[in-house]
Amino acid sequence: MHNNNYYQHNLPDVGDIETGRPNLGNMTSVAVYRLAQYAMRTVLINTLGRGEADKCFFNAGKLAGTEFCNKYLPLDADFNTFMQTLYDTLIELKAGVMRVEDIDFERLEVTLTISEDLDCSGLPVTNETVCTYDEGFLAGVLSAYLKKEFDVKEVDCWSTGERTCRFKIKPKPESYYEHNT
Ligand SMILES: [Zn+2]
Repeated sequence: MHNNNYYQHNLPDVGDIETGRPNLGNMTSVAVYRLAQYAMRTVLINTLGRGEADKCFFNAGKLAGTEFCNKYLPLDADFNTFMQTLYDTLIELKAGVMRVEDIDFERLEVTLTISEDLDCSGLPVTNETVCTYDEGFLAGVLSAYLKKEFDVKEVDCWSTGERTCRFKIKPKPESYYEHNT
């Protein structure tokens, strides 16, 4: 039962939060989220090494992004409507402020920033990007919508000294090839 496919196809529902938390409600502290995220990250890096830990975080983010896209976003909408809904939903959930900086519709290449994000905004500068989960999340969202696999790389991050996270997104070469033939 406990193999990758089992988890991929059976991501647990987040539950009925309204019923489960009648007094505390749907919101929590960013510090609580970061404590969980960075505790898991530390244990994974110490157990598996940085490279494998990053893969785990990327894949977890991708799984979450796919689920998020299927649950919250208009899969049949045109690209502008889809991206506007993504922006609105991230604001509504207080997850971050997204801004598309550059887009090449033909190549499906996008540069976007997310400010005031959950993962890194306000962290000490360590000169390394840390939003690997978010890279995977964006890959999952776009893969679920466009039915292609995407590479997502964070090129700027609060922890590299920027005031926002900047992501370069492009289709994986094989799906780009399929798209153009
Ligand atoms: Zn970042």
